[in-house]
Amino acid sequence: MQAKKFTDLVVAGAVRGKRVFIRADLNVPLAADGTVADDTRIRASLPAIRLAREGGAALVMVTSHLGRPKEGEPKPEDTLAPVGKRLEALLGVPVRLVTQWVDGVSGNADEVLLLENCRLNIGEKKNSPELAQKIAKLADIFVHDAFGTAHRAEATTYGVFEYAPVACAGPLLVEEVEAIERVIANPPRPLIAIVAGSKVSTKLTILQNLAEKVDTLIVGGGILNTFLLAAGKPVGKSLIEPDLVGEARAVMEKLARRGAAVPLPEDVVVAPEFKADAPATVKAIDAVGPDDMILDVGPTFAEAIARRIENTSGAVVWNGPLGVFEFDAFAKGTERLARAIAASPAFTLAGGGDTIAAIEKFGIASKVSYISTGGGAFLEMLEGKQLPAIEILARRAQS
Ligand code: ADP
Ligand code: MG
Repeated sequence: MQAKKFTDLVVAGAVRGKRVFIRADLNVPLAADGTVADDTRIRASLPAIRLAREGGAALVMVTSHLGRPKEGEPKPEDTLAPVGKRLEALLGVPVRLVTQWVDGVSGNADEVLLLENCRLNIGEKKNSPELAQKIAKLADIFVHDAFGTAHRAEATTYGVFEYAPVACAGPLLVEEVEAIERVIANPPRPLIAIVAGSKVSTKLTILQNLAEKVDTLIVGGGILNTFLLAAGKPVGKSLIEPDLVGEARAVMEKLARRGAAVPLPEDVVVAPEFKADAPATVKAIDAVGPDDMILDVGPTFAEAIARRIENTSGAVVWNGPLGVFEFDAFAKGTERLARAIAASPAFTLAGGGDTIAAIEKFGIASKVSYISTGGGAFLEMLEGKQLPAIEILARRAQS
């Protein structure tokens, strides 16, 4: 990653006595009682804050967005207050919430300032230069550590880094980007990608980009149905996207030209309707009838791809469940895949909202080499896009 790194600045002693501003991603889900329901993102943001303190910063400021508030119209549910409580407990340092901060803040080295939901500031979303310039006056060093919003060019995720006296990448951002680059840019071979989940339309660019890079592309979920249709197989009343059949075929042809492949299942799990308690039947692919819905890959196919993953020493990237894993009767394919990823000696990378839910459901989190915390940003990197955060930090590293 071509960026100045905050860790290097700390090691060089360049943070001592400086005011540090960290753009983190503390956008966590809240429970009905307003407390933090899942603190994964808060914990992932701790290293940058700790580094700033250990580096002798005179003042540490942290901000994040939370939800999608209306700029200039704060509502009770928009406050970072519950995040501040959890952050304080995890850090063991007083965390003080500052509501009005754009025009200036004061504090000391014995506390961490949590600057209220940055999406409440007018001009945040549109990356207003006036707002970014004002914020850029608040500190000496600006740290981008918000991988989850690295694909958005907003005032605190982009603009401020244009005007900041020093702009650098935080440890989480570096770790995330490097883990994904390791698979996308120069992967250990063979590279196996599993792109599954509900729709081809949401992942078409990923399929097209990975088709140029992977040795094997495994498709599953609703995406698989459209590929099956493209291969002339019966899909009954499964979720399909008929207008993307041509695109699916193009992806398969692109891989074939490179001597790679999209293995299609010889068996699938079908049901008469999309319901948790619908009877699940394993059928050979050619036996799928007009009233069947394909809701999972079959056991023979799941076993074959699992073996392949368990026996590869290259890299595996996984996005999307192979079936309707929320319903136990249709979760077996995804579970077998998850277990194979856990057992594989390869570098394994996973990401995506439902993929992480599946990883949690099957309890394999500690056995995946890297799990990305950034949904949209992770997917955009798989699409081969340059993230705005990476672009601006690289540009600032030159000047
Ligand atoms: P991610 O969030 O990991 O990127 P997606 O959002 O693309 O994944 O897809 C996840 C959803 O796809 C799950 O809710 C799952 O139930 C659904 N799904 C998987 N297989 C099928 C299928 N065969 N038919 C319909 N929906 C499916
Ligand atoms: Mg999803």
